[in-house]
Amino acid sequence: MTTSTRRLIVAGNWKLHKKIEESLSLVAELKSALTTQTNCEIVVSPVFTALHAVSAEIEGTQIKLSAQDVYWEDQGAFTGEVSAPLLQNVGCEYVIVGHSERRQYFGENDQSVNKKAKAVLVHNMIPIICVGESLQQRESGSTLQVIISQVEAALQGLKQQEMECVVIAYEPIWAIGTGKTASPEDAQEAHSAIRRQIANQFDQKTADGVRILYGGSVKPSNTASLMAKPDVDGALVGGASLTAESFLGIIKAAG
Ligand code: PEP
Repeated sequence: MTTSTRRLIVAGNWKLHKKIEESLSLVAELKSALTTQTNCEIVVSPVFTALHAVSAEIEGTQIKLSAQDVYWEDQGAFTGEVSAPLLQNVGCEYVIVGHSERRQYFGENDQSVNKKAKAVLVHNMIPIICVGESLQQRESGSTLQVIISQVEAALQGLKQQEMECVVIAYEPIWAIGTGKTASPEDAQEAHSAIRRQIANQFDQKTADGVRILYGGSVKPSNTASLMAKPDVDGALVGGASLTAESFLGIIKAAG
């Protein structure tokens, strides 16, 4: 299968940035620039408190809404958490799961990532499951082993049919927010290993349908060369998604 049959996704992860007014102003700029249908799916992930307002602002447009995290239980005595049905209720179609910042600072692990991905799927949303190696792991030559094991654990117990909705984001930790990007060749090697793992765990047809995004210092100038690789099906963008100019530049370069 070629990339042309997997629709590209350009997803912005706003992390812990932007009040409601700032979020609305960014989507208003995106909206006014995106007057014609683009070839890629466009996704924005504001902070929880801005989801409702952004959801209303993007209604009827091609911009889709994502949350940055989720809890796996639907409801109950879980102070401070936000569940999948609540995210769906506010208009989310995607949820980022297992971002390396959550793994690093908030105790996220392969088991919690798996439970969160399942909760997102049960509530008919698309999990964007993040995997990626640290600098030390890359330097010690264990990159592929690390990401394969993260993918295997994250997808454990998922039904074949659910895999049609799964998106994986390969995000080398050393490339996130650092200005260092994986070379298109390194990204392709990782993406193809991820697809092979999905084929082993499920089957080749399933693997061929899964979209695998690259994340890590994506900007307008490096987008086209990354997207040109056969197993790179879009981008998860942090810093460069915070201004309309750079996010739109990435969307344009993604084609
Ligand atoms: C991210 O937060 O997922 C990310 C890839 O960040 P950045 O684009 O800033 O490296």
